Amino acid sequence: MQLSIAHLYPDLLDLYSDRGNVIILQKRAEWRGLRVTVDEVTVGHEPDLSSYDILVMGGGMDREQGIVAEDLQKRRQNLEKAVAKGTVILAVCGGYQLLGNYFETSGGQRIPGLGLLDIHTVGAKERMVGNVVAEMEIDGVKTNVIGYENHSGKTYLGAQVQPMMKVIKGYGNSGEDAFEGVRQGSIFGTYLHGPLLAKNPALADHLITLALRRRDLSFTLDRIDDQLEARTQQKLYKRLVESR
Ligand code: GLN
Repeated sequence: MQLSIAHLYPDLLDLYSDRGNVIILQKRAEWRGLRVTVDEVTVGHEPDLSSYDILVMGGGMDREQGIVAEDLQKRRQNLEKAVAKGTVILAVCGGYQLLGNYFETSGGQRIPGLGLLDIHTVGAKERMVGNVVAEMEIDGVKTNVIGYENHSGKTYLGAQVQPMMKVIKGYGNSGEDAFEGVRQGSIFGTYLHGPLLAKNPALADHLITLALRRRDLSFTLDRIDDQLEARTQQKLYKRLVESR
C-alpha cells in the first residue's frame, strides 16, 4: 500500500525545521509497512495536487510569503480539486496564513490568500513567541499537543472553520480567544512549529489515517513505542502549565 506526500515550497517555506513534519509522516507510515513517496513541489513545478494523499506546507517570512502567495494563485483550481478529493493538507504558520482569505502585514501590505480556509490574518506590532501547550480532540479523544510559535500575524476565524485546538499555554491564533489553528474538512492549519508532528505522534498518525481513508483504505496503524515523545510532552506540560 502506498502513501504519496508532496512538500510544497520546501525552499521558500522552511522556518524552524518544518521539513521535519514530512520526515515524520514518511517514517511513521514506513514503519507500518506503507510505501511512501515524497515529492518537493515549488515555483515552476505543476503536478496534479489531487494525486497526492498529503500536502505539507511550512512557515516563512513575509518576503517569501509574497512569492508563494503569487504562485499559489496559479494553483487555485489544482488545490481546490485536491481538497474536493479529500487530500489532507497540513499548513504551518506562513503556509497556514496563505490558505486563508488574506494576510495583511504589519506594514499594511495586503497579501491575498487562497480562501481555502475561512480565516484572515492581520500583522500586529508585537510578535507572539514561545512554547505552546494546547488540547485537541483526535477521534473523540482529548489529546495534548505541544509546539513552538513565532508569528506577528493574528488570525481570526470565520464561520466556516472550527478551531483545531484550545490553548492551555501560549498565544495561538491571535492571543485573544484561546484558540489555536483551524480545521476545515481535511485541511489543518496551525501556528505550531516544532516540528509539530515530531512532538505529537498522535496527530501525525491521525493525518496518515485520514489520508488513507480518502482512498477508502481502512488500514489500522500498528502501535509504535512513543515513550520518548510522551516524556517530552509531560516535561513541557509540567514546566509550562503545572508550575504556573
Ligand atoms: N510572517 C508570518 C508572521 O510573522 C509568518 C511567520 C512564520 O511562518 N513563522 O506572522
